[in-house]
Amino acid sequence: MTALIIDGKEIAKRKKLEISLEVEKLKESGITPGLAVVLVGDNQASKTYVRSKQMTCKELGMHSVLIEYTESVAEGELLRKIAELNEDDSIHGILVQLPLPKHIREMAVIEAISPEKDVDGFHPVNIGRMMIGQEAFLSCTPFGILVMLKESGVALEGKHVVVVGRSNIVGKPVGQLLLNENATVTYCHSKTKELVKHTQSADIIIAAVGRTGFITKEHVKPGAVVIDVGINRNEEGKLCGDVSYEEVKDVAGHITPVPGGVGPMTITMLMYNTLKSARNALNKLQRT
Ligand code: NDP
Repeated sequence: MTALIIDGKEIAKRKKLEISLEVEKLKESGITPGLAVVLVGDNQASKTYVRSKQMTCKELGMHSVLIEYTESVAEGELLRKIAELNEDDSIHGILVQLPLPKHIREMAVIEAISPEKDVDGFHPVNIGRMMIGQEAFLSCTPFGILVMLKESGVALEGKHVVVVGRSNIVGKPVGQLLLNENATVTYCHSKTKELVKHTQSADIIIAAVGRTGFITKEHVKPGAVVIDVGINRNEEGKLCGDVSYEEVKDVAGHITPVPGGVGPMTITMLMYNTLKSARNALNKLQRT
C-alpha cells in the first residue's frame, strides 16, 4: 500500500485563489489588506521567509511593507515601531520575523502587537481565545494543518491524534485546534517514555520535532495519517522533514511531503489572517 499524498502546494493554490478574489472585493469597498513585516538582522532563512511572504502578498493583490533593522537595534526602537504600526490604518497585519537577537525579549515584542493585528496568532490573547474556542487569529502552521486535513477529507472527530513536539508555535496549538475538532489528543516530547507505543496507537501523527527522518515506519500504524511539519536540512543542504518519507509512505494512509506539504499552507494562512483582519477593520468602520 502506498499512502495518498496530501498535496499542500495544490491546496494552498486553491485557497490563495479564494483569498485573491476576496481581496478584490475588499478593494472595491475601499480597503486594501496590508501586511507589515519586521525583519531584524541578517539571518538567511528569515530573509528567505520574509521575501516569500512579500511575494505572496503581491501575488494576492495585498499591500506589504518591509521594515528592516540591523542586528544591533534596541528593543525600545522595535517596540516604538510596533506601536506606530498598531495605529496605522493601512496595516492590518503585523508580523515580526522570529528568531530575534538575544538582547531582545521575543515575548515583549509579540505582546506589543495589537491582538487585532496579530496575524501570526502568537499573542497570548489570541492563543487564549483559541484555547477556549472563541474567535481568534489562529497560528498559521497549525491552522494550515487543520485546513489541509479538512480539505483532504480526513475525519477528526473521535480520532486519536499524537502530536510529537510541544512548542508554542506548532505542537501545542495544533493539538488544541484538533481537540477543538473533537479529536483525542496526546502530546509527546523529549521526556516522553516509550514514544513508539504512543505513536503506534495514533490515527493521525503530527511530527513537529525538528529532526530529520525522526518518525520511521516503526512509529506508524498501518493506514495512519502522517503530517510532517519539519523543515530541516540534511548534510547536502537538501530540505527534509521529520518523517522518513520513503519508508513511512508504504505504511501510512495519507502523508504530507517536504517540501510541498505544510510549508505552503503556513504562508497561505498568514494571507488569510491578514484578509480577515482587513475585513474586521472594514466592519468596524461601517459600524461607526
Ligand atoms: P522546537 O525546537 O521549538 O520544538 C521541538 C519539539 O520537539 C520540542 O517540544 C521537543 O521536546 C520535541 N522533541 C525534541 N526531541 C525529541 C525526541 N527525541 N522525542 C520526542 N520529542 C522531541 O521546534 P518547532 O516546533 O518550532 O519546529 C518543529 C519543526 O517544524 C522544525 O523542523 C521547524 O523548522 C519546523 N517548522 C515548520 C513550519 C512550516 O511552516 N512547515 C513552521 C514552524 C516550524 P521538549 O519540549 O521536551 O524539548
